[in-house]
Amino acid sequence: SESITVGELAKRMGIKATDLIRALMKLGVMATINHPLDFDTATLLATDFGYEIENVALDVDELLEAEPDAPEAMQKRPPVVTIMGHVDHGKTSLLDAIRQANVIAGEAGGITQHIGAYDVELKGQKITFLDTPGHEAFTAMRARGAKVTDIVILVVAADDGVMPQTREAVNHSKAAGVPIIVAINKIDKPEANPSKVKQELMEFGLVSEEWGGETIFVEVSAKKRINLESLLEMVLLQADVLELKANPDKTARGTVVEAKLDKGRGPVATVLVQEGTLRAGDYFVAGIHFGRVRAMQNDRGEKVNAAGPAMPVEVIGFNGVPDAGDIFVAMTDEKQAKEIANHRQMKLRESELAKHSKLSLEQLYEKI
Ligand code: GDP
Ligand code: MG
Repeated sequence: SESITVGELAKRMGIKATDLIRALMKLGVMATINHPLDFDTATLLATDFGYEIENVALDVDELLEAEPDAPEAMQKRPPVVTIMGHVDHGKTSLLDAIRQANVIAGEAGGITQHIGAYDVELKGQKITFLDTPGHEAFTAMRARGAKVTDIVILVVAADDGVMPQTREAVNHSKAAGVPIIVAINKIDKPEANPSKVKQELMEFGLVSEEWGGETIFVEVSAKKRINLESLLEMVLLQADVLELKANPDKTARGTVVEAKLDKGRGPVATVLVQEGTLRAGDYFVAGIHFGRVRAMQNDRGEKVNAAGPAMPVEVIGFNGVPDAGDIFVAMTDEKQAKEIANHRQMKLRESELAKHSKLSLEQLYEKI
């Protein structure tokens, strides 16, 4: 167990264990020298004795609220885009078409791997796509406090119009405060009716510019690769309006967008770096896990040594499989990363135990 005993804590603070036991009694805890203390109690006690516990009980929020960046440290970063829309309206086709159109002929034999995100380049500017279409992934991440998407591309099939999941996608995007670009897809079909789609989306306040509104509509065909570049141009235009910036010159923070256990490589996760730069060799914490970046790859399977803001990379070196939506924080201190992860793991165990049965704290300690 990673919790500290009364004896150890006393020793680290250079006080007598009996003094600590007395302080514990004041807190209503009867303890012996081998009694394990959770981090909150340890923090409380240490503070009583005039110590500051630095590495303990750090919270995700606290971690994310690191020092604000100086305005001059902020640099333009690529937009991160999620494609949403009703089933069969062409999300996967559009993601594939955009990606393939961007794979330079002959590059890595055109072989690309699925890592949950990829980036494309248009006229020297990058756009990152989260390759996890559907609002489930979007909401699951949001539920975990992760904010990864800057722009939503709402795909609506021109031959089908607004459907239930179109509505949901609009609602989720709005709730997240993420601007929507509408891609009216399948315009190659004879029965395509883009005007109908525009008409239907008006009730959600998505009014096209030609009709006096502010929403960008692009008529595309994923299948025939029509207007894909215009769509990307519109994304870049929207990104300019949003003035997306990040400080690349600090330790990285980001979000896990996908993770799995690989037979050969162990736990592997795709991390979207959102601030700072992630480097091979960095220590990190992600949710209840920690590790050290042993290797990084991009979506083209190429080795990467450093990943800056908005760049998705596949990271190897986790001590367990994190969850999509986990906040990823790189650290210079291995011990700190380990302690935070272990602390969180303990908290999780505690809350799970508490859920299953009403154990007393005393009983809980025995279990740990
Ligand atoms: P998703 O469920 O939103 O991911 O939709 P898919 O990408 O799987 O597409 C559903 C179906 O629509 C597939 O049969 C695609 O081939 C077809 N499809 C997608 N885009 C187009 C398009 O631009 N034109 C036509 N004609 N068919 C398309
Ligand atoms: Mg699909």
